[in-house]
Amino acid sequence: MADGLRIVFLGPPNSGKGTQALMLASRLGVPAISTGEMLRAAVAAGSDLGLRVGDVMARGELVNDDLMAEVVSARLAQDDAARGFILDGYPRTLPQAETLKGILDRLEAALDAVILIDAPTDVLIARGLGRGRVDDSVEVMRDRLRVYREKTEPLITYYDRLGVLHSVDGDQSIEQVGQQLLAVVGVGT
Ligand code: AMP
Repeated sequence: MADGLRIVFLGPPNSGKGTQALMLASRLGVPAISTGEMLRAAVAAGSDLGLRVGDVMARGELVNDDLMAEVVSARLAQDDAARGFILDGYPRTLPQAETLKGILDRLEAALDAVILIDAPTDVLIARGLGRGRVDDSVEVMRDRLRVYREKTEPLITYYDRLGVLHSVDGDQSIEQVGQQLLAVVGVGT
């Protein structure tokens, strides 16, 4: 799979997938595209998009699929994504997975791998508290997790059926998870 550069990272908040997406992307020479980061940047900039998503994000809920479709199709149309990408935080719902398929079909491309990074709930919560982001109160974290289980977890079966799903245990050191990801994508260490 060494040439397979279109990758989706799937997993709950605080599973470490953001960190890993950045590390693997730099190793593969493709952009790490985090929709959460894009939205936070929009909120910080006070752009139209930011004004539309700020409240929803603060509640730990999901931004609506149509708006996310605009954000992601514009981002994937940029030059740096032409030879691959790691998507971190998208798709998060079944309709988003269908949207992504549509975008890739038009580009005559397909996903090479979807990698699930998961860890036990208590580990996720403890990590979130350690991170201490302003919006990460225990309540909001629990809401984010509930939304993940309800809306995003069905994607595991969806991608498993398509034969592209891989799983890595996120309850390990950053280095260990990184090593396993390299093995999954077929890059020697
Ligand atoms: P993240 O950093 O990926 O946890 O994203 C932070 C927040 O941005 C989420 O809790 C959502 O409110 C919003 N968000 C990010 N990506 C998506 C997405 N694919 N669909 C809907 N909302 C999203």
